[in-house]
Order: sequence, then structure tokens, then C-alpha cells
Amino acid sequence: MPQLSTATPPEVQTFGPIKFIPGKKGGRYPYCHSLVIEGDETWVVDPASDKDYLRRLARTRRVTRVFISHFHEDHQKYNHLFPQARFHVPAAEAEAFRSVEAALDLMGLVDSQSRAYWGEIMVQQFHFRPLQDLAPYEPGQRFQQGEVTLEIIPAPGHTPGHSCLYFPEQDLLFLADVDLTPFGPWYGDQTSSLEAFEATLKSLAGFRARTYITAHEQGVFSREEFQAALPAYRRSIAAREERLLELLQTPKTVKQLADRHFFYGKPKDPHFIYHHIETQMLTKHLERLLLQGRVRHSNGAYVVNKR
Ligand SMILES: [Zn+2]
Repeated sequence: MPQLSTATPPEVQTFGPIKFIPGKKGGRYPYCHSLVIEGDETWVVDPASDKDYLRRLARTRRVTRVFISHFHEDHQKYNHLFPQARFHVPAAEAEAFRSVEAALDLMGLVDSQSRAYWGEIMVQQFHFRPLQDLAPYEPGQRFQQGEVTLEIIPAPGHTPGHSCLYFPEQDLLFLADVDLTPFGPWYGDQTSSLEAFEATLKSLAGFRARTYITAHEQGVFSREEFQAALPAYRRSIAAREERLLELLQTPKTVKQLADRHFFYGKPKDPHFIYHHIETQMLTKHLERLLLQGRVRHSNGAYVVNKR
């Protein structure tokens, strides 16, 4: 769920048989950019960009396969336009494509009211329905048609099964929600992992491709742009940590920090979801700082450990 930026909205771009389809709202939540691969078969990646475009595609081509990078609702809003397709999803989180309950479990929503409310949003606004023809994929798996190979590059952290997709012939890497936005990395589910995200960023830093495509905001990056954007994106984790330590010069509870909108900077709707995200992301930082002995507990709050 990235923030606003002032960049001009991206346009449809073509990389051989691969088309970049910009998401509505500049590819910001609840949308993301999609890819369409047109060879002997037509494939779609993360169908949550543009309803009109994808509906037209569904009417004019037989889409045989849909690939989804991870279980988040803003990457599969228009799954329902392709009822005849086989859906390829990360094996590590395949259950979340079979039931709303499993998706809510991965998010870590516990109280029944929040679960009921968000479950309803997923069905009503994101058209969630259990996928019939589901084919879970594993890291390193390859799919081929004509001059296109699609290779699954595991990129966990954002979610447990979050995956990037590499197209070697076109030398193009789809980064999904390693989205290189000014907001920085998002690890707001209970099952998101800060450490795994950092390891993913470290390994992607050495991934050489000609073109990189994110699922949100800017979308298309040249190698030079990627090489500048990735370190800045990585640094935002350290910047968050420094800001947190500054605030913890005086004791604060997780709730007090979340109420200050530590990550988003302002209140956002629905409040309970954003409060949940703030809490999850804060907790991951605080637990690590605690383990490192850089903060300590003080009457149910956290405070900097002065040495
Ligand atoms: Zn996501």
C-alpha cells in the first residue's frame, strides 16, 4: 500500500511478446500493474490493473494461464474475468487462494469482527472466490511457450510465498511488490518477515536484467534506474529504525506508536486495517531491537537501552 508520488502515470509498453499494462490510479492500491504475454497462448500476470483492458483481452483472446505473485487482494482483483484459465500461485501460500479464511490467517487478523469485515471487502470489492483450476508453483519452476520462458524467482518477506518472475529471452524481471516506491518495503502481515525481505533485497541487488518492472507506481525501470532505486528502497528500513529509536528516547507502547501513524504518516481508512499493519510492522522492528539489546521493556512500553 504505497504512498502518493508525483511521477507521470505509466503507459502500455511492449517488450517483444510481453506487454506492460499500467494499473489504474498510477498502479496504486487497490490496483497494480499487470503483464500480458502474447505468444501461441495468452498469459496474464497479476490481473488487477485495468478492468476495461483486461475485459477486452478476455473477449478477444483465450487466456490459458494466469500467474499471481502473491496472495494480496490488489494483485487479483480481476481474476474472475478469466474463468477458463489455470491459475499459477505460490505453493507456500496456496491455501489463501482457496479460502478467504486462509488469507485472513496469513494477514494475522484475529478478532471475529475484523475478519468478518475484511472478508466481506475481499468478496465484494475484490471479487474473491476460491479458484477452481489452481496450480501451485515452486521456486525455480519454469513455464515455456514459443519465445517466452517464465521463471519463478522466490522473493519472500512481503509475504511468505511472494515471487518475482524472470523472462530470460526478454531479460526482464517482474519485481511484483518489491515495488521500489518512496514508501519503502511493506511487511505488514503477521506472516511478513523483515529479515526475509532484507535477504530478498540483498539477493535482488545482484540480479542483472535489462528491464525491471514493479507492480506499483513507476512500473518500468531501466537497469540504471533499478541500480539507483534499490539501495534507496533498502535504506528506508534503516531510516525507519533510526526514527523509531529516536522516538523511544522516552518509553512508548506499540499502540502509542501505531496511533502516531509511524509508517503511513496520517490516518487512513479502514482504520482497523491500517492500525493492524502499523502494529505488525512496528512489532517486527521492536522485536529485533529487543533481541539486539538496543531497546528494553519498561512497564509494557519500549524504551531505548542506554549503555
Ligand atoms: Zn502485496
